[in-house]
Amino acid sequence: MNALHVISFSSTNYYLLKCNDGFLLIDAGWVGKYEKFKKGLGALGIGVDSIKYILLTHHHHDHAALVQNIRSETSCRIIVHQDEVKFIRQGTTFTGDMRQFNIWLKLLDTCTSPFIRLNYNPVMLNKDDIIVSDNDYDLCGLTGLKARVIHTPGHSKGSISLLLENGDSFVGDVAMNILRVFGQRQRPIEAEDYNDVYRSWQKLIHSGAKMVYPSHGRSFPVKELIRILETI
Ligand SMILES: [Zn+2]
Repeated sequence: MNALHVISFSSTNYYLLKCNDGFLLIDAGWVGKYEKFKKGLGALGIGVDSIKYILLTHHHHDHAALVQNIRSETSCRIIVHQDEVKFIRQGTTFTGDMRQFNIWLKLLDTCTSPFIRLNYNPVMLNKDDIIVSDNDYDLCGLTGLKARVIHTPGHSKGSISLLLENGDSFVGDVAMNILRVFGQRQRPIEAEDYNDVYRSWQKLIHSGAKMVYPSHGRSFPVKELIRILETI
């Protein structure tokens, strides 16, 4: 059984999994929220120096903006997909190909986006970081976690998920569980390619995912995704 911890603020979840010599953190985001993040860590009794790995599900500001802050205080290693590297190095959120699921979510995005800071501290990668490709990447040897990284594009091209042996899947934004009043159910409220999102869901299902832990909203059983796929 892997010990799972979560820090939540600004509608976003940051998960921590106990690994060999400390913790693997999944994402760290929102510009200007580092103190808030550290307060959340402190409440869990975890020191920032216990973070040994940061798995970046994708490059967006609410997932990557605090990574360089953490790096400046630790020697943690980053795990990221090759297609996200360019953006984290620049500290930019690429929105060029982003489409909202429907007109209501498009309107909401138009109203809220002027208030969101998309640019963040560029992440300096080094030789110890792990750049994954489209192939599954087994994390066991590195971290002791019985888990693998799976390429799950759709929300962004280089989105990745972490799938534990017990079926828990940490999927970033390839699925969400928020704002369901707008009718998208567990789809992401926005994505670069919804067909890729559905293919990534199928990949997760076939790879053995059972519970989905999204970055936005509460966890839910994978059968919710199966139900949506049956309607498409
Ligand atoms: Zn995102």
